Order: sequence, then C-alpha cells, then structure tokens
Amino acid sequence: MNRRNFLKTSGAGLLATSSLMSIPMLGCGEAPNVNRKTAHSGHLILRFKPYELKLKHSFNLAKSSRTTTPDVQVELEYDGIIGYGEASMPPYLGESVESVTKFLGSLDLAQFTDPFRIDDILSYVDGVAPANRAAKASVDIALHDLLGKIMGQPWYKIWGLSPEKIHPTSYTISNGTPEEVQEKIKESERFRVLKVKMGVPGDKELVETIRKATDRPLCVDANQGWKSKEEALEMCHWLAERNCIFVEQPLDKEWLDETAWLKERSPLPIIADEAFQRLPDILRFKDVYDGINIKLMKSTGLHEAYKMAILARGLGMKVMLGCMTETSCGIAAAAQLSPMVDWTDLDGNALIANDRFEGLIFEDGKVIPADKPGLGVSLIKGME
Ligand code: MG
Repeated sequence: MNRRNFLKTSGAGLLATSSLMSIPMLGCGEAPNVNRKTAHSGHLILRFKPYELKLKHSFNLAKSSRTTTPDVQVELEYDGIIGYGEASMPPYLGESVESVTKFLGSLDLAQFTDPFRIDDILSYVDGVAPANRAAKASVDIALHDLLGKIMGQPWYKIWGLSPEKIHPTSYTISNGTPEEVQEKIKESERFRVLKVKMGVPGDKELVETIRKATDRPLCVDANQGWKSKEEALEMCHWLAERNCIFVEQPLDKEWLDETAWLKERSPLPIIADEAFQRLPDILRFKDVYDGINIKLMKSTGLHEAYKMAILARGLGMKVMLGCMTETSCGIAAAAQLSPMVDWTDLDGNALIANDRFEGLIFEDGKVIPADKPGLGVSLIKGME
C-alpha cells in the first residue's frame, strides 16, 4: 500500500482515491477543516486510515470472543518528519472505526505551529469531545513519536529511565481445546511469565493444563468474570498455591465494596483494569485495589500515563502496564514507560499476524524499546 492510499478521513474529508491521487501527497487527507498547507509550513498535519488487526488465535474472554480487532493507524507530520500512532478498539471499550475516524476528522491540529506545546495540543484534543480515549491516544502516541524524532532521542531517555529496570512481559494463553492450549503453551516458550484469562467455564482446568506443562509464574485476569467476592477469594487462595503473581479485575467493575473486602483478605494483589481508566480514577481506587493496569488506549496516551504511573507509585500502589491487541507502534509507545512499572503485559503485537512496524526489541522475555528516536519503530517495507 502506498502513502496515498493511507490517506483516508471521515465525513466531509472522505475523499475518493481518484481525487486523492491528484492532490499533492503531503497536504491531503488531513481533517477537513485544516488549511491545505504543505508539510514544510510549520503546521501539524494529521492523516489516518482504518486497519483491521488479525489475531493469530481467537481471543476468548469471560464476556466475548473474537478473531480481529478494529484499529486506526495515524500519521502526524511536521516539517517533513512523520510520527506514527494508532487507536486499537476492542469492542468492549465502546469505540469503533467510525467513532475514531469521526473524532480524528473533527480535529484542527493545523492551528498548532509548535509541536512541543504538548500540554496545549493534547488539552485541545481532550476537550473536543468526551470519552474517545483510544482516538485521543492515537494522536498522543504519534505526537510523542514525532517529538522524539525531532529531538533525536527515545522517550525512555527523555524521561531519564533505565531499560535495565524493565521486567519480563507476560504472554496471554486464552482458553480453548486442550490441543489449542498445548499449542499456545509451546508458542509461549520465549516468554518468562504467562497470563491466563479466567472467569469462564473450565478456567481451573486451563490453569492445571498449564501447570502440567510449565512452572513459569502466572498472572490471572478474570475480566470481571467471578460472580461473588467469596468465589473470588477462594480462587485467589487456590491460585496463590499455583505460583500466581496477582489477579486482575476479579469482580464486576462497579462492585467497589466487594472488591475492597477481597483486597483485605486476598493473598494475592488485586489489580484494577476495566474499573480504571484515567488519572482522576486513581484516588477513587486507592483503598479498593492494590494496583492499577495502565493502558495507553484507556489513558489517552503517554502524556497522561506517565503522570498516572508517578501518582500511583506515590500512593504506594502497584503499577502494571498493559495493552490491547496493537501493532508494534502502540506497544513500543507503552514500552517507553516500562522501566517505571512493577509488571509488564505488553504482548499485543505478538498476538497479531499483520504487524505494520518493526524495531521493537524482544530479549530474555522482555519487551525493550530500541535506542532510536521517538518510539524506535519504523514501517515494515510493503506495509506503507
Ligand atoms: Mg485485563
């Protein structure tokens, strides 16, 4: 796919390919209300296109199952330098290709002549409409890639973080037939920590199957699937005897009293995922959960996620860094923060069959950002 075919916008900006071909490449495809200036005019230019992520295995959660994830790929250009970002939209979060392209199409980023005004730019993006967290994250990620490239440094260095502090990432083994589970365990050999989705029929059998094959540490994500605090507590004790590290979102995200009850009694840390989205949520949950799972698609990107990690650590909470199914672009963005967190769950690119980016390092079970400007990833040849 060439650059021109990348350029798609929504609504008034949805141009036919034939008309795109006749427009100078650098100026087309931006939000419809953007002045058509060239990339060398000192303005931010936004481009985006839908991109369906194809999963290697169907993803079976407590409340859904799927084989693809809708995604929108984003480019943000300034003075001929391009930053890449993306929005990944698992259906349960309520965003879609339609909502993301509509949101991005409504932005007027050409009003900003200085891309280093991060706060101004992202406050504007955040204020255009409520929610739309993945759409906002896509702009934030592309802006960070762009600025890192302009500065000539990766973000973990700009933040002063040490890659030696990165922990091994977990890798999700979702439930399936015994043969499928065996195959997934085999595929997971390069990962030092495994993650299991529970809260579905047969979840104990899944853990037993894994334990017969390997004693690697397990993280458990119940995805709100356990039906009572008593059941959740029993499961936490059972899992603690099976080398489990923590339990993510054991109960319904609205059950704060029940979760606080569980936190007091559980031998394992209780981590908030679905219950938790953005920075202000942390104070509300500090006595309910032991820790939080930060994901860029929930936090609206790196700018807020960085503040969230600092606040949570300051409150004595554990911090986990998670992801959706994403290309290496979104994962590389999250990886910039990974020296700051206790647990890393950045396997989203390993779960898809059509990654567009390369350059992210996987070594000794760890996802490590490359020592290259921005996010440290580049488009795979032929995937432009
Ligand atoms: Mg989770």
